[in-house]
Amino acid sequence: MTCVLLVVFDGLRPDMIRPDVTPNLMRFAALGTTMARARSVFPSETRVCTASVATGCHPRRHGIVANRMLHPADRTALVETGDGESLRRMQQESGEAAVLAPGLSDLLAKEGREYAVFSSGSTGQSFILAPRADELGQLVLSGHGARASSQRGQRLLERLSPPPADPTARAVWIAEAWRTTQMAAPPDASVLWLCEPDTSAHYDGLDSHVQRRKLSEVDAAFGRILDDWQDGKLRDELQIIVASDHGHVTIDGHVALLTAFRAAPVLAGCSFTGGGGIAVPGADPGRIAEITEWLMEQPMIANVFAAGEDALSPGCLPLSTVLLDHPRAADVVYTLRNSDARNATGLLGTSLSTDDSRLPLGGGTHGGLNRAELATVLMLAGSAITPGHTSDEMAGLPDIAPTILSLIGVSGGAAMDGRVLGDALGEQPFACGPQLLDIGEAQNATYHQRVARLRAGRHIWLDHAVRV
Ligand SMILES: [Zn+2]
Repeated sequence: MTCVLLVVFDGLRPDMIRPDVTPNLMRFAALGTTMARARSVFPSETRVCTASVATGCHPRRHGIVANRMLHPADRTALVETGDGESLRRMQQESGEAAVLAPGLSDLLAKEGREYAVFSSGSTGQSFILAPRADELGQLVLSGHGARASSQRGQRLLERLSPPPADPTARAVWIAEAWRTTQMAAPPDASVLWLCEPDTSAHYDGLDSHVQRRKLSEVDAAFGRILDDWQDGKLRDELQIIVASDHGHVTIDGHVALLTAFRAAPVLAGCSFTGGGGIAVPGADPGRIAEITEWLMEQPMIANVFAAGEDALSPGCLPLSTVLLDHPRAADVVYTLRNSDARNATGLLGTSLSTDDSRLPLGGGTHGGLNRAELATVLMLAGSAITPGHTSDEMAGLPDIAPTILSLIGVSGGAAMDGRVLGDALGEQPFACGPQLLDIGEAQNATYHQRVARLRAGRHIWLDHAVRV
């Protein structure tokens, strides 16, 4: 019986997969199909991305619209989605599910199939991957211990060494936990989410010596899973997908953004969310117009989007351009100034960061629409996957869940935004077909922005955006 393991390396850029740093990811790539044009979603923040992986949908449908987002029942309050308890409380207070689209967890449970989550990511991130784990009897093991594990996960935890606090060690620990407890008889679908190389990219310098060493440690842990798989009896049954949720750009400057916002009369009474969101009192269209006009005058701002299709100021694009038109989204969403310049080690993509981010110059950041933030790793290998193939067809986070469902024969994928990656499965009728470039563009006398998207049929991927 076919089963699938999805391994997510949080924040791994495709160009950080190299023979000297990640020999095991290189070995894996040679076995199967690489989706060379895989893309993240917007905002390219971890919990937003996680919900897209789990549900096969863009944020406009799953409703996790920023890492720190507006409370659905009280737009003056913020919900920290990295905290599982905050998400549970938000559900009780608002009467609506945190994740609004059905995910792998629900769809597998409906057909009596086994689904497991092993994550060293935040407690909220584990929650988003399996929001009803206890109710559905699913195994969730968190690198943060019992408080973020399901009941089945808590029982498993008692048999394991305690999870380490250091993020790299925790990622290695969770990978080993999956290998040693699940490899012999894997669930129909497992998600193994490794919090590295994201943490080291943020704090140790993107592509620095320290970060490469930490990435190598996590790659080695993945290598032990590969060894067992290649040598074991499940070589034909288990299909493996390796992905990242977003990339990183290098911080080339800091800006005192909140100080500037709080000093700006135009923003009086507004609140500020993660993912570059601004909540405007009463969602007043006149104030939204004034605020977007002000943002477009600021050199530190790149893209500017606002809710609603009509009556936007010239230069501003609707949130639908970036697939973020959702009642939970902020009224105005911006990205910070970024570029295609290269960092000290030659990696493309730089961006400003805010001075309250606590991230160093040369550290990594993400959340925006730079092509290096949106470019992700997506590789598949196994008996059902085309070997030694590189696909130039568009792919993205929402395509992962429908592909997993297709591989294991569970229904529900057709209702998702994503497509089955038929080009990786050698099934030409499921390949995505012609991919049409679709530009969203707007300008005024002094400001000009452009969003590049690709479309194939009803599927859409965000490629990159620029302030021209
Ligand atoms: Zn992430």
